[in-house]
Amino acid sequence: MACIFCRIIKGEIPSFKLFESDKTFAFLDIGPLSKGHALVIPKHHGAKLTDIPDDSLTELLPVLKKIATASGAVDYNVLQNNGRIAHQEVDHVHFHLIPKPNESEGLGIAWNPQ
Ligand code: 5GP
Repeated sequence: MACIFCRIIKGEIPSFKLFESDKTFAFLDIGPLSKGHALVIPKHHGAKLTDIPDDSLTELLPVLKKIATASGAVDYNVLQNNGRIAHQEVDHVHFHLIPKPNESEGLGIAWNPQ
């Protein structure tokens, strides 16, 4: 399987897992833009948002919200890139949760809801 995020979901490539359910997976970004930079992804493989079934997207946003809340971040960005011109590097849909540095104290690499 070529997709790096599908391999992370399967545990073939290690990651710092934050959350997993039937349809959703979340883990820390390997190249964080700030402390606690997380990626929230559907387990369904698709390159772009428009490739993902509605039920996967419906579950994903509350997970992202849960992680944002648990992170303790006061200010943060949510970012989702589609296509090379839009700076997408990994062709498996992912939402970045990027806490802003000055508001990220207490972010949880120890946080684990499992
Ligand atoms: P994109 O530019 O596609 O929106 O972002 C892809 C993100 O995936 C980047 O922030 C990059 O650091 C992250 N990433 C790429 N490969 C890996 C990996 O093997 N493990 C983890 N945890 N993150 C990765």
